[in-house]
Amino acid sequence: FTINMDQLQLDEELGRGNYGTVKKVLHKPTNVAMAMKAPFSSLLHSLLRLTFFLLQEIRLELEDAKLNAIIMELDVLHRAVAPEIVEFYGAFFIESCVYYCMEYMDAGSLDKLQSAGVPEDVLARIASSMVRGLKFLKDDLNIIHRDVKPTNVLVNKKGEIKLCDFGISGELDKSLAKTNIGCQSYMAPERIKGESQNNLGTYTVSSDVWSLGLSMIEIGMGKYPYPPETYSNVFAQLTAIVHGDPPELPEDKYSQEARDWVTQCLKKDPERRATYRELLEHPFLVKDRTSNVDMIRWVEKALEHRVAIALAAVKTQPPQSV
Ligand code: ATP
Ligand code: MG
Repeated sequence: FTINMDQLQLDEELGRGNYGTVKKVLHKPTNVAMAMKAPFSSLLHSLLRLTFFLLQEIRLELEDAKLNAIIMELDVLHRAVAPEIVEFYGAFFIESCVYYCMEYMDAGSLDKLQSAGVPEDVLARIASSMVRGLKFLKDDLNIIHRDVKPTNVLVNKKGEIKLCDFGISGELDKSLAKTNIGCQSYMAPERIKGESQNNLGTYTVSSDVWSLGLSMIEIGMGKYPYPPETYSNVFAQLTAIVHGDPPELPEDKYSQEARDWVTQCLKKDPERRATYRELLEHPFLVKDRTSNVDMIRWVEKALEHRVAIALAAVKTQPPQSV
């Protein structure tokens, strides 16, 4: 079925990224809660709208060709149906802006759920879900994710872990100018060095394996392993990723198996990094197959913890002067 803006009732904002906002919406005809992403910056769009009429016409013509390419590419998303992938419901365009609607994940993204780190059995379940999701994208749809990081790993109260925001569309990626190196880079060393010329065509699956390993460390420790406050600038931080030793899971909290699994993802040489198959066959994830970790309970606890932190922050705020 197709979705358009008239059918949607806007609800709260779920978050903001570099390219726009994600809002919770209700699809009235089906009564399904969805997450709607409007990836194009509305500020940029308003600025463009202020340009001359003539200029705008040219812009729209250019955009039309691009939009058609995007529509065709988005079509792949309808085939991306797997337990570890956030479901895609449809996309629509308003004034050259693409909005897309996906499954609403009611516990949000992993970056906001694990401020204190997670126990090993939970980490193993997250890791195996992510690897299965990434392997499905690669094997069944020939898609490389290209943006593996905790904000793109979503969780629901059923305890399910699913991936979103994968690079289906070269055109869409280009439109979104996904070249930003923010203060938290999950880019593999070879990508930072530019050996692959920052070219979408040469991005290989092993670069995603690096990002996966880095995400595991962040989820395990509760913080990004190359904290910006440690480095005087982004250049120093990127140099550490390229030339320093890769980070590891802490010895006192995780088993040798878990630590080795992450080490296999974070080899500096992309050729030496583990494949998805190897990662699934590793003792860390073999053990997960028979583990009866209670993910529902973990999500419940993590959400309670998040609320407690938010409340504490409100209480410690000094009274506002009028
Ligand atoms: P970036 O812009 O660098 O990709 P990001 O992934 O955080 O960062 P968005 O993809 O725009 O940015 O998402 C913003 C936030 O919205 C996410 O961090 C996540 O918490 C929330 N979010 C995204 N999609 C969903 C969804 N389907 N269900 C629930 N929350 C979501
Ligand atoms: Mg995202």
